Amino acid sequence: MGAQILDGKVMSAELRAEIAQRVAALKERGVTPGLAVILVGNDPASEIYVRNKGKGCEETGMYSRTINLPEQTSQAELESEIEKLNADPAIHGILVQLPMPKHLDEQAALAKILPEKDVDGFHLINAGHMMTGTEGVIACTPRGALYMIKSTGIDLNGKEAVVIGRSNIVGKPMAMLLLRENCTVTICHSRTKDLVEHTRRADILVAAVGKAGFVTADMVKPGAVVIDVGINRVDGKVCGDVDFEHVKEKASWITPVPGGVGKMTITMLLDNTVEAAERNLNRDR
Ligand code: NDP
Repeated sequence: MGAQILDGKVMSAELRAEIAQRVAALKERGVTPGLAVILVGNDPASEIYVRNKGKGCEETGMYSRTINLPEQTSQAELESEIEKLNADPAIHGILVQLPMPKHLDEQAALAKILPEKDVDGFHLINAGHMMTGTEGVIACTPRGALYMIKSTGIDLNGKEAVVIGRSNIVGKPMAMLLLRENCTVTICHSRTKDLVEHTRRADILVAAVGKAGFVTADMVKPGAVVIDVGINRVDGKVCGDVDFEHVKEKASWITPVPGGVGKMTITMLLDNTVEAAERNLNRDR
């Protein structure tokens, strides 16, 4: 029997309806949640992501602003834009679209964002909260992926979870969230020996590698929940890291690409922004 599909579009539509209600409630109290996205240069994929973020804001009644900076923007100019947004009361969430041009220092730029406006959850303070399990902003992609895993209703206690990929924005925070859910977590990466030995044990398998079709059916335990974070372009078509057609015959649940984790990532970004506006209002009262 084939796997059930974890449909990011359906889940996002439900969540965005709830978000729109929270936005309306905030507006009644005189606050419109605002998201600012800084885009440096003109990477076509980044431009699409930024446009989709703007559309998500529009759909839920939020205010959005995109700051387009030229490719040759200096670190000082970038940081000065961030500081302006930090001080702007109309902006509750700030996001710097990654990757940035090579001459810019991503970590230094992210560190300039006020942690309470860091809706991507990449600031070291928020990364620290994630590590310790204390209150903070949770990175959007792993948060969306966890939401999808939990929507299966499977009891995560003691489950074997394997995350392929150890980036700061996906792999590591994903592993941390699964650990918080009491999974036994293994993180695999390019130096992992016998990768298949690990992945075949996984009740929950998350692929965040960036290689089309990397996870094949022989790597998957029958009945596993398979979460495909990858976004790759092959012959102009978007596909994930998982060989969807074959793996879906073996897994119990699977996310498609497109229409899976990517859609949920933007929904979680909207949610983090509304949450930031709510926290800000409650702090001010
Ligand atoms: P990175 O390139 O930063 O990380 C990729 C990871 O995969 C690294 O940890 C790398 O290991 C590991 N890896 C590479 N080759 C192998 C291999 N042969 N065996 C095992 N591990 C391997 O990518 P990101 O984490 O930023 O993104 C991963 C994917 O997710 C990309 O396709 C990206 O586009 C997508 N993405 C999707 C999002 C969404 O909204 N759905 C959001 C963000 C990213 P090592 O560390 O050793 O190099």
